[in-house]
Amino acid sequence: IIFKTATKKIYMKVFKFGGASINSFERIQNLAKILREYENEKILIVISAMGKMTNALEKVAEEFYSGKKEDALQLFEKIKQNHLTLLKYAVTQQWEAATSELLNFFTEVEWLLHDKPVKDTAYRTGRYNYYYDQIVCAGELLSGTIVSFYLNEEKIQNKWIDVRDVLRTDDTFRDAAVDWPYTAKNIEEKILPLFNETNLIITQGFIGSTDENESTTLGREGSDYTAAVFANILNAESVTIWKDVEGVMNADPKDFPDAVTIPELSYKEVIEMAYYGAQVIHPKTIKPLQNKNIPLYVKSFLNQRLSGTVIMSKNSRNLPPIIVYKRNQALITLDSKDFSFVEGKPVNALYEILNQVKIKPNLTQNAAISLFVCVDDIPEKIAEVALQAAVIFDVQLEKNLTLLTIRHYTAEFINKLTENKTIVLQQKTADTIQLLMREINQ
Ligand code: ASP
Ligand code: MG
Repeated sequence: IIFKTATKKIYMKVFKFGGASINSFERIQNLAKILREYENEKILIVISAMGKMTNALEKVAEEFYSGKKEDALQLFEKIKQNHLTLLKYAVTQQWEAATSELLNFFTEVEWLLHDKPVKDTAYRTGRYNYYYDQIVCAGELLSGTIVSFYLNEEKIQNKWIDVRDVLRTDDTFRDAAVDWPYTAKNIEEKILPLFNETNLIITQGFIGSTDENESTTLGREGSDYTAAVFANILNAESVTIWKDVEGVMNADPKDFPDAVTIPELSYKEVIEMAYYGAQVIHPKTIKPLQNKNIPLYVKSFLNQRLSGTVIMSKNSRNLPPIIVYKRNQALITLDSKDFSFVEGKPVNALYEILNQVKIKPNLTQNAAISLFVCVDDIPEKIAEVALQAAVIFDVQLEKNLTLLTIRHYTAEFINKLTENKTIVLQQKTADTIQLLMREINQ
């Protein structure tokens, strides 16, 4: 480890509240109810933007960048009203002070929206990503400010921190990498002493800032990761992610009505699940926790009595089959043109193409004179891959496929989930089976 983590160890926990847990006044009241149960503990809370706000802000960024300033401003006006309305319900005595805080954040964005976007296509990461981060970061700043004022009025005394003063990143906008040594130093100097003044610190997930004070974001759904970064550096006792589900389930109940909550999972199992596409926790979250052996609880914010799921180093035992669907998949089949074996060079060439087009295969398989690559169906990217690959291979494409992954599979589950389906491709290890399927009636 190349950075120093907090030397003075204090007993504290990290909580993360996602967008769904704060998107109405009732939900924010519920958050207060949860916190009252932890009154005498030191807690750092990481908050996301109110539900749907990040999507709405993305739209603002898109309109702005495509030169539609008025549309961008209009969309942003709606976002403002949303927050001001919530504030009116949540805060009374401190309403003026709170409003002026929100107005500061609104103004930051509006200034930018009044500029003309600089189009810089030569810049590899795209100038768009820079603007995106300056606009989208407002969601977390606004939601947390409202929550902080509300809790203070409810006598749940807390301090609000602009995470951009603490969490330093590089300038890979929209996918910024945390500068660990610098962030650790900041947290030790700026956050630790605050726990002498207050039991509760509120900050934002998902966002950070560069050494030039430009805002950055860590990738969609990145608030979980922020919680893990703070927990790692502060040597937290635990992290709790409060969600609108009962815990981590073995399948999405929409796909599989018999889905059950899994009480205990290992870090490794969760990484595997995320790898195969389960949308449980942001994939980057586990490593900082695993490195310090910090348990991660996933709990229901609507029913805190439920024990939910704990994720920790202990090996998971007696897991039910875990089911992950990836829909809207495309299968690219590449055959060698002259009946030569597909190995070494052509295989490398294919991976170079995939890398360059920035598309990650979800499943690959080799045969004597063929290669199979299953990818998310993103038409522009697939067209580009097909075009480049056609120099070396005969290329065929099949769309409208579903990739089913079952970890800890049983014959019974495979049969049940593949009933009435045609299997196009299948891959199996001791733990995991992946089945690429076509609906029979297609
Ligand atoms: N608000 C961000 C998003 O919706 C980050 C998060 O929720 O974790 O992606
Ligand atoms: Mg979220």
